Amino acid sequence: MADERPGLSGVPLEELASWFAARGEPAYRASQVRTALWRGSATSAADLTTLPRPLALALDEAFRWSTLVDETLVASDGGQTEKALHRLADGATVESVLMHYPATATRRARHTLCISSQAGCAVGCPFCATGELGFTRDLETAEILDQVRSANRRLGADERITNVVYMGMGEPLLNLDRVLESVAALNDPTGLGLGARHITVSTSGVVPGIRRLTALGPQFTLAISIHAARDALRDVLVPLNRRWPVAEVVAAARDHARATGRRVSYEVTMIGGVNDTDTDADALAELLRGDLAHVNLIPMNPVAHTPWQASPMPVIERFAARLKTAGIPVTIRRNRGVEIGAACGQLAAERAGAPPAPAVARRRLRLETASARALRGQRSEEPVPAGVDG
Ligand code: SAH
Ligand code: SF4
Repeated sequence: MADERPGLSGVPLEELASWFAARGEPAYRASQVRTALWRGSATSAADLTTLPRPLALALDEAFRWSTLVDETLVASDGGQTEKALHRLADGATVESVLMHYPATATRRARHTLCISSQAGCAVGCPFCATGELGFTRDLETAEILDQVRSANRRLGADERITNVVYMGMGEPLLNLDRVLESVAALNDPTGLGLGARHITVSTSGVVPGIRRLTALGPQFTLAISIHAARDALRDVLVPLNRRWPVAEVVAAARDHARATGRRVSYEVTMIGGVNDTDTDADALAELLRGDLAHVNLIPMNPVAHTPWQASPMPVIERFAARLKTAGIPVTIRRNRGVEIGAACGQLAAERAGAPPAPAVARRRLRLETASARALRGQRSEEPVPAGVDG
């Protein structure tokens, strides 16, 4: 039978305090548990020696200490990057990627974790391994947070996660309530105590979600996966563009930047011969002119089911130069930054097994036709993906 106990990390502090109050216990017990969850080495509520034994057992009966099991850990870049595949209680799997950045003369060491907000994704961007998997379900707040706890524990007692990016599997703004709850818990000083400046949430352009964030004020850095400034091409690369066209996405992001005073970052996955032309660079520069914006160019990581490759570096450099000339700040993510997005989803996709060859061939052909049409400026006639209604 499925474990019905709520994940402890996702229970708001006040609720936990009420749970203790109902048992005649003081409110500080809740903070004690929160601290043990994030900083201690306990592997079960029953292990908590700071609580009277019967209380620890009652806590264990009411809540789950962790909502996930680390199934696979894979290191790359000489141990500087670690991908984890987490298995959830219902068997769904999600990924997180931990990246270590050593200290420099001016900066302390950083440990950035890329986390998932959904199992699978309904948006279905064709260059993305997660998009290929389709949508399974939203993650619970605790399932989002436990990815961070798991990585933090792996770092050991002397180090802590310094940055969290919601750039793993799923579209965070289509699971916004739980994403916001998880951000609040990451901020909480009794837990990880991570400041808003150290958290980035990436979206493929869910306009009502962006507007909702703007109304809430600055919570974290907003990243927009823009990929193309022309609607016809963006319809193919980010299928929810058929619901919220690129000009609406940028207008919402612009309002967000103005209202919060925080720069929005725009991500472009650079796909050879598809979205890396001078016309695309100029269209993007035109769209973002005068905005509080920063563009990141990320060479596409190869994904089995696409006919595409990363743009060659000289092409990316030329694209960057055109943006720069137009006054748009731009960075090329040459090495590990690349893996933030690209690695996420790929481990789970590998586990799911390769799709049959004829299906891959059909899909490749469809993408080639669709992108060729788009490059001629024709809008897509494909419907908005199911489940994308914001
Ligand atoms: N759904 C959200 C957040 C998760 S995807 C979004 O799309 O913004 C995080 C980032 O990884 C996105 O910018 C996405 O475009 C990028 N990405 C996905 N597949 C990739 C690939 N094969 N190569 C490079 N970047 C990729
Ligand atoms: Fe979903 Fe983001 Fe992948 Fe697109 S890039 S399919 S929105 S996870």
